[in-house]
Amino acid sequence: MSGWDSAACWIRMCAKPRSDKNAMNWKKNDLTTVRITDIGINGEGIGKIDGFTLFVRDAVPGDLAEVRLMKLKKHYGYARLEHLLEASEDRVVPSCPVAGPCGGCQLQHLSYEAQLAWKEQQVRNDLIRIGGFENPPVHPIIGMDQPLHYRNKAQFPIGYDREGRLAAGFFAAHSHRIIPLVTASGGHQSDVPDITCGIGKEINTAILKTVLNWMLKYRIPAYQEDTHEGVVRHVLIRCGYHTDEVLVCLVINAEKLPYSEVLADMLYDLRCGIVSLSFSSNTKRTNVILGDSYQMIRGQEYMTDRIGGNEFRISPLSFYQVNPQQTERLYRKAVELAQLTGSETVFDLYCGIGTISLSLAEKSAAVYGVEIVPQAIEDARQNALINAVDNVHFYVGKAEEIVPELYAQQGIRADVVVVDPPRKGCDAVLLETMIRMQPERVVYVSCNSSTLARDLKELCGNGFCLEYVQPFDQFSMTTHVETVVLLSRKDA
Ligand code: SAH
Repeated sequence: MSGWDSAACWIRMCAKPRSDKNAMNWKKNDLTTVRITDIGINGEGIGKIDGFTLFVRDAVPGDLAEVRLMKLKKHYGYARLEHLLEASEDRVVPSCPVAGPCGGCQLQHLSYEAQLAWKEQQVRNDLIRIGGFENPPVHPIIGMDQPLHYRNKAQFPIGYDREGRLAAGFFAAHSHRIIPLVTASGGHQSDVPDITCGIGKEINTAILKTVLNWMLKYRIPAYQEDTHEGVVRHVLIRCGYHTDEVLVCLVINAEKLPYSEVLADMLYDLRCGIVSLSFSSNTKRTNVILGDSYQMIRGQEYMTDRIGGNEFRISPLSFYQVNPQQTERLYRKAVELAQLTGSETVFDLYCGIGTISLSLAEKSAAVYGVEIVPQAIEDARQNALINAVDNVHFYVGKAEEIVPELYAQQGIRADVVVVDPPRKGCDAVLLETMIRMQPERVVYVSCNSSTLARDLKELCGNGFCLEYVQPFDQFSMTTHVETVVLLSRKDA
């Protein structure tokens, strides 16, 4: 035994065992071989060796992979895919050249059929594991006809690439490093070829290129998070599916945007359907993308699109579903499950610009829509007007504050409640109020099956019955899954 070896041995014998030592006695950078059997919530492949769980990015179920260990905890760890020893039958070549590093998509290397099967199972598992339902009535997932280039909206961070070029793209997974799709550089450097995002609209590339060229020409710096300096933070682009109208909004770290008229000329010269150009001032150190308000540079304050026969005006700060084709199917199912006869009072909670509310209004006596973003409610009221719908009433505020007020103070009781909350699910006070109110039916539209399962457990423990679960793929290539659920009152 050399001096070094014996010293190491002595240290090992005397040192107290560290509590974070992993159960396999592995060290960082060790290589091991693992069969991938599942997918984690962030899209990583999951493999197990003697009960030890390894998360491997870019690996898919069925792969046999040699992996390098990166971060080790007692019973689980993270590893990097080094060599694919056997490729899964479900593995495909991503269509996007930056699918690996980009944090936007997590499942591009998995076949679309396998993505759908996993999402459907994810909903079932959450309802069983978190919701406590033994055999939830989950119907086969409704997938997309064409799973690429579907997103009608994107918010691109603006910054610099490693060589200092102006860049627009998406953040890398778990980081704020920009993976560039479009770059622009003056002087001696040449631009890198542009990439069109695999799930975004092709027109985005030309718009981003124009914004970057304008920044370069007028020396308008990109925002930098570490120093909180610079101007342009994000570019929001939204496209109408049925109208081909385009809305562009720059998010800036300033109160005013210099040379904005020139930017408008350059963008409108693209003749790509831009009808609304604005900026939103966001001078806070925050991960929240948009500011609280916006100012117009050129055009109208909104773009228009249609869903299921209704026309909708959408202004820069309002929420609008990102997948128009699937949204039509989703709303049709939500309305069908509401089983309206024309005499019902309906609550549409978390209503955004009133898209579901107007779909429900045709077959209801009255619809009450509640939404926290004031500009979205302005859009909703306008949307009711332009579609000549006069039996909807919209309220600005938190659903958990407005609904108790409508019910307890004004005595308005819903026969049917539709909820479509953000990822964190419904507020406890809202659930409590729904339990007291006991509507005949609840239609729950969810973009997060784990908070859905948590909320359904609460409702079904207090007078409701789980009748129908329909998953939809609204977000192909990503791990997200949308679900529409029907609950009925037990004694109804
Ligand atoms: N139903 C709409 C919007 C769903 S997205 C549609 O299909 O387009 C969720 C919406 O809930 C967003 O518009 C968000 O602004 C809103 N929201 C978030 N928290 C809220 C709360 N506590 N009360 C009411 N609305 C809320």
